[in-house]
Amino acid sequence: MRKVETFDYENIQHVFSLLSKCTEDYLFIYDFPADEYAISASATETFMLEEPEFDHATEILMNVCHPEDRKLLRDNLQGIIDGTVREHNLEYRWLGRNGHSIWISCRGQVVYDQNDHAKYMVGRITELGRRNMIDNTTGLYREIRLKSDLTKRVLTGDKNGFLLRIGIDNFKTVNDKFGRNFGDSVLNSVAECIRECVDEHGRVYRMDGDEMMVVAEVADYDQKEDQARTLYHKIRQRVDESIAAMGYKHFHTISAGGTYFKPRMQNVNTLLEQAEFALHEAKQRGKNTYVRYQEDTYQAFVKRMDIQERLRRSVEENYKGFELYYQPIVNTRKKKILGAEALLRWQDDVVGRLSPAEFVPLLEESGLIIPVGRWVIRTALEQCLCWQKKDKNFRMNINLSSIQLKKSDVIMDIETIMQELGIGNHNVLFEVTESGELESDSITQKILFSFRKRNLNLGIDDFGTGYSNFRYVKEMMFDLVKIDQAFIRNITKSQYDYLVVKQMTELAHSLNLKVCYEGVETADDLECVLDLNPDYIQGYYFAKPTTASDFETRYLCMEQKF
Ligand code: C2E
Ligand code: MG
Ligand code: MG
Repeated sequence: MRKVETFDYENIQHVFSLLSKCTEDYLFIYDFPADEYAISASATETFMLEEPEFDHATEILMNVCHPEDRKLLRDNLQGIIDGTVREHNLEYRWLGRNGHSIWISCRGQVVYDQNDHAKYMVGRITELGRRNMIDNTTGLYREIRLKSDLTKRVLTGDKNGFLLRIGIDNFKTVNDKFGRNFGDSVLNSVAECIRECVDEHGRVYRMDGDEMMVVAEVADYDQKEDQARTLYHKIRQRVDESIAAMGYKHFHTISAGGTYFKPRMQNVNTLLEQAEFALHEAKQRGKNTYVRYQEDTYQAFVKRMDIQERLRRSVEENYKGFELYYQPIVNTRKKKILGAEALLRWQDDVVGRLSPAEFVPLLEESGLIIPVGRWVIRTALEQCLCWQKKDKNFRMNINLSSIQLKKSDVIMDIETIMQELGIGNHNVLFEVTESGELESDSITQKILFSFRKRNLNLGIDDFGTGYSNFRYVKEMMFDLVKIDQAFIRNITKSQYDYLVVKQMTELAHSLNLKVCYEGVETADDLECVLDLNPDYIQGYYFAKPTTASDFETRYLCMEQKF
């Protein structure tokens, strides 16, 4: 090879400016003995460099280099000068003109003198972000690169592997609370932890927002050990350690979803969707956890989405397929009906008939419970008005979802409809289901107090399961406690359940609350519970929920005694 002895800067800049028309890269020459450096003039527009040529090159290069990468650069350059390193091929960060970091790939060819000492290095610097391949915040490959890598690996490759999609839990709150810069530093430290845990068989990518993806090879597709899970746990531990090292200034956790691929097995988009879905599941299951993609869970999810779509269509088509059934509530002392509970039914041409336990949660999840709940209130109240004409004390119980309480002006809806129809407060009672959320949420509490202020009757449904708290029931001034069916179901067999129901009933009565038992199915059940002195009973023993017309003919017309 011909040895270069000197170079002349003017010529060099001329050559660089000509070459800049052929490439977006920055070209450079580094003279080691003279500690001089020349780079394409356009570099001064991008990086923190005053001039395209300078003396004291090592010092200036250290200044333009991101502080965290200075050691990496210094070691490499020193190695070249000492003769221990013969290659310069680094990916690291330079500082941009406004101080932000820019990922570069720097590749140089070293030219040696007669004594084999490094004399010059000539090379090019590529701004990785400009090629859209590297994310400037984390230095990880971007999603666009992931797709092209996967296409190569999955569609034509011969390797087994997995995708592990990792998300930082509650990252939005981190950003909102501590600002974007802090958010970026959390992202960076998690990215670093992932990089440290992924070996040479894997590659890490930055996805949208707070999410990152690992693509790794595995030897055997059908291996028992879930290697994606193992990697997740390793990363999680590394993240915990790094938080501890930073003195717990802020605590964050990560969730992940994993899925596996075989050569030529999947379509890339399907694979990406699987990893995304698995991460979504991990977040649903309370975060700080890992979920492996399962086809049947995904199919169940798809089915839920389909049903939600059908529900939406029903709502749009004027509540087609929705209907209210009515179940008598019996006044135990008078042995005649007090009224009915309105219970929602839904029937769809495609999906068929589903129970409210299946479709009410879907209505809640999608927000459709708000229009449907409004429809329930109106339909039940119109029915109530009609039946009041036959029994002036007829009382309609209507279920309200906590979503309706929180996310719609349910009291205004109720008042408007009641006024329009001219229905008195004593003819209606609203049931809300007991839950921890109901008690701890200050918005719902406020709304329940508004019911009180307006003298609207309130009942607490499914009482006794999990969160029961009589003080709360008393404070909220409920009128009625409906004891959950679960207790009544075994009351004839379980002494414990019997005593619990007895205690709850006595306590409720001492607080001046009425008590209703749900789920009384047999004559034995009835005989057993009558001793406990409930005010009302609702159950299959008396009647199952039925259509309005059936209810009218069977339970309303006759002065039926139960
Ligand atoms: P819930 O409000 O506790 O309603 C009582 C449920 O117990 C009804 O089930 C009723 O059919 C059932 N039931 C009554 N007596 C017996 C019995 O003796 N044995 C048995 N095994 N079951 C009995 P359904 O109609 O399937 O409703 C289930 C739940 O769906 C309701 O429980 C309520 O939480 C919800 N739901 C129904 N309609 C509406 C509605 O319009 N709005 C809202 N938000 N939720 C509703
Ligand atoms: Mg109810
Ligand atoms: Mg109930």
